[in-house]
Amino acid sequence: MTQENKPTPMMEQYLSIKAQNPDAILFFRLGDFYEMFNEDALEAARILEITLTSRNKNADNPIPMCGVPYHSARDYIKRLVESGKKVAICEQMEDPRQTKGMVKREVVRIITPGTILDESALEQKENHYLAAVNVCDGVYYLAYLDLSTGQVFLTSTDDQNQLFNELLSLQVSEIVLSDQDQSNDWAVLLQERVATFYSFFGKEIVQSTPEQIWTLLDAKDAETDLLNFLFAYVADVQKQMAHHIQPVERYELSQYLQLNYYAKHQLELTKSLRTQRKKGSLLWLIDHTKTAMGGRMLHQWLDKPLLRKEPLVKRHQKVEHLMQHYFDRIDLQEALGNIYDLERLVTKISLGSANARDLDQLRYSLGQIPVINAILERINQDLLGLEDQAFDSLPEYEELWELINQRIVDEPPLSLTEGNIIRMGYDTQLDTYRDALANGHTWLSDLQLKERERTGLKTLKVGYNKVFGYYIEISRLQAQQLKDDRYIRKQTLSNNERFITEELKGIEMTILEAQEKAEKLEYDLFVDLRNQMVNYIPRLQILASQVAELDVLANFASLSEQEGYVRATISDTPKDYYLKDSRHPAIEKLIGQSAFVANDLELSPDRSLLLLTGPNMSGKSTYMRQIAFCVILNQIGCFVPAKEARLPLVDRIFTRIGASDDISSGQSTFMVEMMETNQALIQATEQSLLLFDEIGRGTATFDGMAIAEAILNFIAHKVKAATIFSTHYHELTSLEQDLTCLKNIHVGAEEFQGQVVFSHKIIAGPSDKSYGIHVAKLAGLPEAVLQNSQEILNDLEAKACQLRKKDEGQLDLFTLAEQSVSSQLTSNSEGELKEELEVIKQLKALDLNQIRPIEAMQLIDEWQKQLP
Ligand code: ADP
Ligand code: MG
Repeated sequence: MTQENKPTPMMEQYLSIKAQNPDAILFFRLGDFYEMFNEDALEAARILEITLTSRNKNADNPIPMCGVPYHSARDYIKRLVESGKKVAICEQMEDPRQTKGMVKREVVRIITPGTILDESALEQKENHYLAAVNVCDGVYYLAYLDLSTGQVFLTSTDDQNQLFNELLSLQVSEIVLSDQDQSNDWAVLLQERVATFYSFFGKEIVQSTPEQIWTLLDAKDAETDLLNFLFAYVADVQKQMAHHIQPVERYELSQYLQLNYYAKHQLELTKSLRTQRKKGSLLWLIDHTKTAMGGRMLHQWLDKPLLRKEPLVKRHQKVEHLMQHYFDRIDLQEALGNIYDLERLVTKISLGSANARDLDQLRYSLGQIPVINAILERINQDLLGLEDQAFDSLPEYEELWELINQRIVDEPPLSLTEGNIIRMGYDTQLDTYRDALANGHTWLSDLQLKERERTGLKTLKVGYNKVFGYYIEISRLQAQQLKDDRYIRKQTLSNNERFITEELKGIEMTILEAQEKAEKLEYDLFVDLRNQMVNYIPRLQILASQVAELDVLANFASLSEQEGYVRATISDTPKDYYLKDSRHPAIEKLIGQSAFVANDLELSPDRSLLLLTGPNMSGKSTYMRQIAFCVILNQIGCFVPAKEARLPLVDRIFTRIGASDDISSGQSTFMVEMMETNQALIQATEQSLLLFDEIGRGTATFDGMAIAEAILNFIAHKVKAATIFSTHYHELTSLEQDLTCLKNIHVGAEEFQGQVVFSHKIIAGPSDKSYGIHVAKLAGLPEAVLQNSQEILNDLEAKACQLRKKDEGQLDLFTLAEQSVSSQLTSNSEGELKEELEVIKQLKALDLNQIRPIEAMQLIDEWQKQLP
């Protein structure tokens, strides 16, 4: 190796630190910059769009390099982390001005997608999860934690799909897996299906069993290992104690209403299909919570609707009481609106990043608790005879409020090092310094007066600048008259001369010293307070969750009142559904409650399978969605959009809704549909709700119809779950004769002056027609096509009539169609026949699953041109 290629000592230090953090982009502190080198520099420059330069430009192998200023690093870090990178922050551990040779440097924190705490990177009302997974004896264990709130959850399942579903639903930001699992099949699948996964290279970590694990009753070894692993990872990236990690909450997935990820996705429970954001989802629609904690809790509730009656009824009762106490609820929501994000404040206290503003917010929030308790007390007084339904009052932690209030001034500044944080009168030493400071300033003005008199110079004044400190300034003209040997010349400016005196120096010393000492003391007093508050962390977290719950319940109450929702009675009989005038919560918002046509639903144990027919665009999918929403809203504790409601507790909802809606995104293939149907048929119980929307549409007519019929038979005889099955195969309606549990319903449509008008009303009985041609007309298809299809249809119907009359058994659409077409064709001339046959051939050969809607349009266009 030549002399030139040998790395400098600094690069050597860099390379050795980088070697310990191979999977993170290393931010290497050099003075006022964080520098990145080599691969890191190439990657960061690309992601951050910053200039790439190089070190040793003239050497044989210049080193790629880029940098970001220390003071604006936050935003760059955030952007790197949001693009899935980890960033290791390497700081100078010594003051370079006081160090000879190399400054010591260390990685002080690694910021990862699942552990980032930068406020601008976190959604206020969303959790931000870091997850870990392991497998033992065929059981998958999943632990996840929100570092910003300290909540930790643990669950397990022996079904890989269920694990993936859960991870997808939680929208975890990062998954950590142990080294050993990296190449396992399930880990590879996880990486493919769920998220970017980050391998964790076991460094030397002290694996102390976290306290939180001990609260878990009979934790299995696999669970303890997993939690240890997760906490060790957090410790490794944070490089400090996290005092705010809460006791682990363990749950079984079967404790809650289960919906797989695709169902959640299709129902747009928490994310809109189109934008992939909260806006436009059910959550967005129902979330008017006043606190960040409430918003997060509502999301958690929506992810996990309850299955047990008792806690659910408790929620309903509270919502009802809050609904009945309008004015108290308004007051309550106003007080809640004054409460800051207690959970995330606590986290800042735990990690030592809380400033005086944060403690001020905590004090202010605590100040609202007595107000809230008074309101709850007012409501409770009204609950005569219903004392068991009364609201629990919240803990007020007066002593904590006092602790903060006696020390921290009102409206403290953001900075912790510039003073003005601690109240006057709190600390005598601090007050002495402040006296000196205040006196110093009077001394200065006294001095100015005195010196003017003594010298007789009117322009004399005392000034201050950072370089020279305090000085006496006299205009150059007057300075010539100055005859005083106490004055020592310091600086000559174009118009002024600046002097100091011994006396001025003395005052300066006192002031500067007092200021420095006061600032240091204030900082120490603040940190001392912050440390004391660590003891309150668990109590504050409990308070936070109580506040959150109240917030969500009050939110349900005002939502239900404003939107006219009703409390559902919980039926103990499975499949006992009754909804009067139910509505779709989103569409009724969109088009107005009066424009929306409300619909009823009735299911009973022996009439639990509804076959819903009706023309396209008449409202079948809407109806099914609104029933799913009613069930879900009911089981999270909210009221439902209907006039009257009785609902059972549903253990699973399976949906295949609106398959046609997302053909454009290429997601809905017939295969996926069949796989999901299969899952539903296997897993559904009598307590489940199946919402099958136009199953079998993705394949050829007869295939599809056969499959649909077979599925209906299977549900009726084997699965026996409450089911709504919509179909455009209106031939299926004859099944009502064979299946006693099946009932036909349809969406009303009327023909009016050759136009079809949808009433959107669900009515008993099968629909009599398909109206497809009318919809085609609405969509603006060319008149020639419409006319031709009407002719064909008339012909088909006539044939069907004849066949029925001849009583030739079951209607066979296929032969009918062929007869019809061939009879039409014979009437045409030879040349036209050839062209038409060609078109029909192409039409037959077309696989709808293989083309996009736009291509279909183009084909139809071509055929039209080909036809005579
Ligand atoms: P289908 O599934 O039968 O093809 P959709 O459920 O997708 O029909 O409904 C089509 C459109 O009709 C919806 O977008 C909505 O605007 C309107 N619609 C559906 N149901 C109602 C209703 N009950 N009241 C008013 N408008 C409705
Ligand atoms: Mg539909």
